[in-house]
Amino acid sequence: MTPIRVRIAPSPTGFFHIGNAKTALINWLYARKTGGTFILRLEDTDTERSEAQYADIICEGLRWLGIDWDEGPAFGGEAERGALGPYRQSERREIHCREAQRLVDDAKAYRCFCTKEELDAERERAQAEKRPPRYSGKCRNLTAEQIAAMGDRPYSVRFRVPEGATVIEDLVQGSVRVENKEIDDFIIVKPNGDPVFHLAVVVDDGLMEITHVMRGDDHLTNAFRHVLLFNALGYKLPTFAHLPMVLDETGKKYSKRLHGANVLDWREDGYLPETIVNYLVLLGWTPEEEGRELFTRTELVEAFSLERLGKSAGKFDLKKLQWLNGQHIRMLSPEELRDKVLPILHKAGFDTSVKSQEWLTRMAAICQEKIPTLNEIVPYTDFFFVAPTAYDEKAVAKQWGKPYAAEHLASIIAAFEPISSWDHDTLKAAFEKLVADTGLALGQFVHPTRLALTGKSVGPGLFELTELLGKDESLNRLRAAAAFVRARGDAA
Ligand code: GLU
Repeated sequence: MTPIRVRIAPSPTGFFHIGNAKTALINWLYARKTGGTFILRLEDTDTERSEAQYADIICEGLRWLGIDWDEGPAFGGEAERGALGPYRQSERREIHCREAQRLVDDAKAYRCFCTKEELDAERERAQAEKRPPRYSGKCRNLTAEQIAAMGDRPYSVRFRVPEGATVIEDLVQGSVRVENKEIDDFIIVKPNGDPVFHLAVVVDDGLMEITHVMRGDDHLTNAFRHVLLFNALGYKLPTFAHLPMVLDETGKKYSKRLHGANVLDWREDGYLPETIVNYLVLLGWTPEEEGRELFTRTELVEAFSLERLGKSAGKFDLKKLQWLNGQHIRMLSPEELRDKVLPILHKAGFDTSVKSQEWLTRMAAICQEKIPTLNEIVPYTDFFFVAPTAYDEKAVAKQWGKPYAAEHLASIIAAFEPISSWDHDTLKAAFEKLVADTGLALGQFVHPTRLALTGKSVGPGLFELTELLGKDESLNRLRAAAAFVRARGDAA
């Protein structure tokens, strides 16, 4: 069997859109599943809109997602890789022009000397007569003498669409067919010598020996022209798969303006690349194992198959994404989680260097079951680095609003003071003794303590966080809380 060669060919005209990331992922998974080659080719020929910074952003997005390419352009200090480059379309202009010339030599394409004005007038006439705008075919059959007589008048190169019909057996869309007479003789090289997208993409796919062209279904109508070009150029026709778009939560095309359209927004928001990879693939593919949603990258490579690519567009579901992120956070080792959250804590202004690595690992571990995103580490652990300066008002009213609140805090302090071995189990036993001695519910001690130590009503498990906070600091905070409650009571 021919080795699988797949590619993504993003145009660096903006950030890396999640739809493109999904396309990249599906190609990458197929390459990894089959031991094939995954190629990155930057379609940077739209010089007006392409910018170097966007190419870097795309590469960075792929890197972040762990979608590594086997062949592709130079990036971030790494040289270009692959024998069939260059991998920036802008560097392939000569190749495109050479192949266009081959088509002209074979009479499969021809020079068209029609001026812009002539073509515009033709189009307007068609519009006025309510006909689809078509090229008249004026230059289709110029003789060698007529061409010579044109001298150095500028010309574009048009593809001579043959008679017949074009059929694509698309892996996702099924069999699609068009009568060739519906396709105009299209321009493949502009009068300024620039190759047009259709020519460039086919020449590049052909010469890079791409076996499967899997891309967004917005290119399905282009694919007919591409098939004609593949055949005319004598390249082996790849298999096509036109993948559905990603829709937003309301079912509309995921607009570039929406937060999250940019893959790197999710990194900013504290999502793991593993989550995004897992989530994106589910927007266009269903696993054989019915209902299964959680996959590691390795599991995805194993489970992936082209047969299960879907035709209908996947609708974005933030709740599911958050749930998946929580699941992937749980799969990290505490050390990995620690290393991922430390930069976030630094960015939030906390000095984590005062703590040992071992302590920080334990801190990460007690949040691991709770946080839905990495960024949530900040509200879950900020109190470890700075004592609360204010208490959550609602929680104050609920936990410390009763006349006996000060008395409860005093009894908690009294229970804590004699503890010599400051650990989870001893703290738990101290609380259980308070419950047994007073006949009150555990919550009546746990919640006020949490509020005293953290200033909030939610966070990591109380015994775990109290142990980590240490005896002196915990008692200081309880005493400060008791003073606050007394002052509040006096003021009332
Ligand atoms: N450059 C095209 C795009 O960004 C992709 C073309 C292709 O995959 O064939 O939409």
